[in-house]
Amino acid sequence: DNLDRTARTFADRDALVDYASGRRWNYREFVADVDALALGLLYRGVTKGDRVGIWAPNCPQWTLTQYATAKIGAILVNINPAYREHELEYVLNQAGISTLIAASEFKTSDYAGMIHKVRPRCPSLTDVVFLDGDHWDDLLDTGRKADPERLARAQAALSADDPINIQYTSGTTGFPKGATLSHHNILNNGFFVGELCRYTEVDRICLPVPFYHCFGMVMGNLAATTHGACMVIPAPSFDPAKTLAAVQAERCTSLYGVPTMFIAELAEPDFDSYDLSSLRTGIMAGSPCPVEVMKQVIERMGMTEVSICYGMTETSPVSMQTRVDDSIERRVSTVGRVGPHLEAKIIDPETGLTVPRGTHGELCTRGYSVMLGYWEQPDKTAEVIDEARWMHTGDLAVMDEDGYVNITGRLKDMVIRDGENIYPREIEEFLYTHPDILDAQVIGVPDERYGEELMAWVRMREGAEPLTAESLREFCTGKLAHYKIPRYVHVVDEFPMTVTGKVRKVEMRKRAVELLG
Ligand code: ATP
Ligand code: MG
Repeated sequence: DNLDRTARTFADRDALVDYASGRRWNYREFVADVDALALGLLYRGVTKGDRVGIWAPNCPQWTLTQYATAKIGAILVNINPAYREHELEYVLNQAGISTLIAASEFKTSDYAGMIHKVRPRCPSLTDVVFLDGDHWDDLLDTGRKADPERLARAQAALSADDPINIQYTSGTTGFPKGATLSHHNILNNGFFVGELCRYTEVDRICLPVPFYHCFGMVMGNLAATTHGACMVIPAPSFDPAKTLAAVQAERCTSLYGVPTMFIAELAEPDFDSYDLSSLRTGIMAGSPCPVEVMKQVIERMGMTEVSICYGMTETSPVSMQTRVDDSIERRVSTVGRVGPHLEAKIIDPETGLTVPRGTHGELCTRGYSVMLGYWEQPDKTAEVIDEARWMHTGDLAVMDEDGYVNITGRLKDMVIRDGENIYPREIEEFLYTHPDILDAQVIGVPDERYGEELMAWVRMREGAEPLTAESLREFCTGKLAHYKIPRYVHVVDEFPMTVTGKVRKVEMRKRAVELLG
């Protein structure tokens, strides 16, 4: 209904642009295709509550599928494009997917081949539609000829608290879990993110972030369509040059990314040749946002209103966001305050009691955004959502007197050296101030004497001498307490990453143990 309203109000304004192919839809055309697809799916036998999987990189068909399934109350299951056979099989079976909409191939991945292989082991899967094949066109053709009354009836049967989306978490700390989200959860979240970004119909949002993740489909797509703004897809998967080119060509006003994406864009050799003067705002989120990078995004990309968001798949995702009128200092160094209609508190994870302001603890959030639960994993749900519906995030945070929150790492990443709690984030921030360091991550490694010792993984700027433990110690001495100075340094070209662009510290710790072994 929300999309229909937007389409009536902003019929002639751009809704969706696919920069790679040059295809574009205004809101009238966009809703016409969404409706055709929704009807096509209904005629193909998809009904309310059925799980429809989507396995593809960012593309217009992804977005159309997102809205078409929501209109008929089917539950969209986002499947990570980087998954391989065994992960695909797990998700197909775990979510009980009956219809799978997929790209037939992407880059080196033969999706069609993998689907063919796992299909005999996935009894729930009855239908596969390739979005780059004849099937897709047939589906839309059927829908265009179909009786629109049927769609109206399907829409009338929806209620805001129905599940419409299963999103698997990034798998940064373990096996991905399927967060089950309702219309109410994600539509509100997209709306409030858009409000705080002050979107209107003149905004054009460049989305290099993946759609299969809430960053793309909620903070991007839903924030746009609830405000009549335009969604711009720069490329099927992240490419810094294409992102900058799309911003320039489409005069985008907003740009999204995880910190590593902004780092890559700023490091593009011909960065200064792009005209980015249309940029006003954007969102950096997903993992700790280094202050230095935020400052450059404001100064060199002109994103003066950029905000940091904090969230997690389980909370639709956003629960904290900086506001335009927050001081620059707070906007670059905190994740802001709790979002509209949400609550937050910081507790001592052992006692469950709220800690005084300024004290580290586990962040908990509550409100409309908290997921219905993990799909068919009630035990796992009970581990994170308590009886009072507080979501225990597993993240360490500090809240100041005014409610601004600093995320200081994951509970699981906190290092305890000789009884002293160390928050790697603090040291990473400091390392970013080193002129030769492009990117830094700090982990704890086992140590016989102190329990744990710190190891810094660093990526050097081009042409810089590789950092040694001695030179790092020199750089830190007098500026960091002695116990916070990393004992080991490991210079790398890349960090182990999830496809959402998050650093996998679990993997780093594993490799570090081997290195030291
Ligand atoms: P999994 O739960 O499977 O281990 P994940 O937690 O990385 O993976 P997501 O739901 O995609 O999966 O990510 C949410 C997490 O990302 C948060 O719990 C937090 O650790 C981190 N995060 C998100 N935004 C920020 C931010 N602005 N600053 C610091 N950390 C952030
Ligand atoms: Mg998580």
